[in-house]
Amino acid sequence: MSASFLVQNYRRQPLAFLRGQGCWLEDAAGRRYLDAFAGVAVCALGHGDAGLAEAIARQARSVLHVSNHYQIAGQEELAARLAAALGGDDWRLLFCNSGAEANECALKVARLWCNQVHGGRKPRLLACEGSFHGRTLGALALTHTPAYRTPFAPLAPVEFVPFGDAEALARVLADDCAAFFVEPIQGESGVKPAPTGYLERARELCDRYACLLICDEVQTGMARTGRAFGFQHHGIRPDIATLAKGLGGGVPIGAAAMSRRLAELLAPGTHGTTFGGNPLACAAGLEVAQRLFAPGFIEQVAATGARLMAGLTQLFGPDAVEVRGRGLLIGVQLHQDPAPLIRACAEEGLIVGPAGGNTLRFAPPLILGEAEVAEILVRLGKARARL
Ligand SMILES: *Cc1c(COP(=O)(O)O)cnc(C)c1O
Repeated sequence: MSASFLVQNYRRQPLAFLRGQGCWLEDAAGRRYLDAFAGVAVCALGHGDAGLAEAIARQARSVLHVSNHYQIAGQEELAARLAAALGGDDWRLLFCNSGAEANECALKVARLWCNQVHGGRKPRLLACEGSFHGRTLGALALTHTPAYRTPFAPLAPVEFVPFGDAEALARVLADDCAAFFVEPIQGESGVKPAPTGYLERARELCDRYACLLICDEVQTGMARTGRAFGFQHHGIRPDIATLAKGLGGGVPIGAAAMSRRLAELLAPGTHGTTFGGNPLACAAGLEVAQRLFAPGFIEQVAATGARLMAGLTQLFGPDAVEVRGRGLLIGVQLHQDPAPLIRACAEEGLIVGPAGGNTLRFAPPLILGEAEVAEILVRLGKARARL
């Protein structure tokens, strides 16, 4: 192979997909792979979707980009659609290009909350052990994994509390805290759902100390968990929810959704991005949102997810430490490194991904059908037999 001019910052599999249709990918040799990873929970509508392709093409034929100096109807429409799915009239949206950027925006709102509303008396930021919030410096400061953080020290000070431990949160939360960042299901560190009652208690504590509760919904949002957003399993409402991954179905777009009261802190000139919410990205986001939030779709995600979870639990039996998750975000924690099994799956034409703590991660397109659930289990069984 000739020299690569790419920075070698990724550990890439020796696979290249040239085409896709639905939940299937195809390589140059014409080999087909069932995709149970969806490019890290991104391709919610699968591959080669005609409706999404048409929405993108239609937009490309008019204007791709105009900048946020001008009115963008698609942004208004997408914001309204997301606000409705988030739970109503009090939500305001700010669009950006990635999950990390959405969390950067949330961090900046937390600083405004401290400085403008509370006279600088809320300098502390809290996040969870095992968290992943992105790779830019602010989002990285909120990310717990030492291997990601330490090479880039010093980072903005963030205090980490054990995930899922409400009493530990109660011990550190105080009036001088601006924000507590939490994922409803920790994705990267091993698909760990917040225990029942945890987010409810976090909400109470944050209310008591006027601390913003910020749910990172980058992986768990957009119908992934069998609800529109992960926090909706817990009957709470965060002050800010950050979105990306599935939002554009593969077109890069992120968003910070916040209460109207917080949105008022971001006066003209306080924050912005050149590309964020451009007409192309919003056309894709709107098509995705319309499809995912159409009547019956989310219920189907929940049902398909339950079927896959039951199948995985049965298939692995005692060979899994735990099978966990919600909807179509499922982790199988193994007793050993999942890398050999992930490779064996690829050899059987099945794409699955890793997550932290020896976990095999399933985050297939949300259009996954019953027959494809069965096919995942068949291929996984064959891959296990290879090892
Ligand atoms: C992927 C992810 C991010 C980072 O998103 P990027 O688009 O890669 O910046 C942040 N938070 C969570 C929970 C994620 O899963």
